[in-house]
Amino acid sequence: MPPRPVLHEVMSAPAPAPAPTRPSPPPPTQPSTPPPTRLWTPKRVLVTRSAAERPHGQRILARLEAAGVDDVELLPGDRLPPLRGDGDRAAFMAAKDTLAVVVPPPSKRALQPIPPSADWRVDLAEGCPAHCQYCYLAGSLSGPPVTRVFADLDEVLAGLDGYVGRGSVTSATVERGGEGTTFEASCYTDPLAIEHLTGGLARMIEHFGTHDWPGPVQLRATTKFDDVAGLLDLPHGGRTRLRFSLNAASVARRFEGATSPVPARIAALGAVAAAGYPVGLTIAPIMPVEGWREEYGALLDAVAAALPAGADLTVECITHRFTPGSKTTLLDWYPRTKLEMDETRRATKRGKFGSVKHVYPKETMAELRGWFEAAVAERLPQARFLYWT
Ligand code: SF4
Repeated sequence: MPPRPVLHEVMSAPAPAPAPTRPSPPPPTQPSTPPPTRLWTPKRVLVTRSAAERPHGQRILARLEAAGVDDVELLPGDRLPPLRGDGDRAAFMAAKDTLAVVVPPPSKRALQPIPPSADWRVDLAEGCPAHCQYCYLAGSLSGPPVTRVFADLDEVLAGLDGYVGRGSVTSATVERGGEGTTFEASCYTDPLAIEHLTGGLARMIEHFGTHDWPGPVQLRATTKFDDVAGLLDLPHGGRTRLRFSLNAASVARRFEGATSPVPARIAALGAVAAAGYPVGLTIAPIMPVEGWREEYGALLDAVAAALPAGADLTVECITHRFTPGSKTTLLDWYPRTKLEMDETRRATKRGKFGSVKHVYPKETMAELRGWFEAAVAERLPQARFLYWT
């Protein structure tokens, strides 16, 4: 791993004559990473019997205790009690404030491709405690919105060798084949939102950085949080790309509840880049709000100012979209949302199996895309543009 840069240097000067009557000044302190702006404390934690028996489950229990989380129920079996998550606001909030530590069925260990991000999806957890009113999980996860953390992490990591060299999403492309077999860890969760309680992302990063792999690999994760202090000194070996999900100031302010503020995410991006991690921007979901050029321009300028010279940077751009199912769920979760989900203002995209997505009309897409490609090239000339969708 490249050496961490020295952020402040104490200038040396000729030593003054000793002054025995004065106590020595304290040694200079290393500048510290700013404390995280948000640390979730679940109101209720449920741990299944199998999860409590696993080493990762035990590490999570120790972290919960250290974090002062009191309401931890060790269940006698592997079934979670009935958890309601719909119907009324109180049930929804109770589910959002619940962390469950479980061992998923073995079928979950068979990894799936996850285009356009990565060859394989590897899940640390499903669910997220934040409150984004456009949340991607609304259309993909069913049931009450509790955050389920998987306690079989060690087994999952031990099984990854078999996927190396078998990817077809990024490995098969000329542009991204050089990344090695890619594994995406933030498909169904925000790993940094729960890292202080689980330590799972750090464990993955260390495994990717130090394991003797049968071929080149890359772990990928994206986040709307800033709790990176525990990641900076890990032996990541340059094999984890940490991306930060960023948006225009007004979009983040209105729609991204209980996440870290965008300036704090950008500071965290700068810190991990300075620690030698390859980094990325996930600009998502892009919305053509009033003044969008100025707002997204200011965002890219702030990123350029925060990154150290020579940072290995990628950019992914995802425009806002919704499905009939995600709209229903989101309106159930956030009935007073001002998020535009008006089918009559959107174009309809149909998937292979009849699925429907509402995206921006062609002209809007072309205008957004043209602007972003030019603005990224101008403001972040070192960045590699991975995809636009
Ligand atoms: S941070 Fe991501 S996963 Fe969490 S609520 Fe927001 S969009 Fe959903």
